[in-house]
Amino acid sequence: MPKLTTKELEEKIKMWIPYSQAPQAFNMSPYTGKPFDCACGKTHVYNNLTSPPFVDGGMYKMGLMVKECKHLSAIKVRGFFNTDKMELLFGCKFEEKKKRFGFTLEYPKFDEEIKIWIAERWEL
Ligand SMILES: [Zn+2]
Repeated sequence: MPKLTTKELEEKIKMWIPYSQAPQAFNMSPYTGKPFDCACGKTHVYNNLTSPPFVDGGMYKMGLMVKECKHLSAIKVRGFFNTDKMELLFGCKFEEKKKRFGFTLEYPKFDEEIKIWIAERWEL
């Protein structure tokens, strides 16, 4: 199971682009309803309100904030028409109570990005 600490996750995604800043952010809406494996060990169904993307890794790699289990899961998006699950690359538990959610980099500040999507999506 590719489950990391927040610090390890941050190291792996530090070159990825925070979703709100991505000039050509990958549109995940066509994948609504598509299953993905999550770092929590379960399979969830993609939905941009309950598992909004917060970081775009390019090459169909996306970091999702999964509300149901409070995990951050990096997945690889799969083809449009098949029903295959989207592949889990790695992920970590979302450390909601920690200072800056456990992130430490000054740039990019993933905790600031995550806050945007908590307010705009999770809290709807
Ligand atoms: Zn999960």
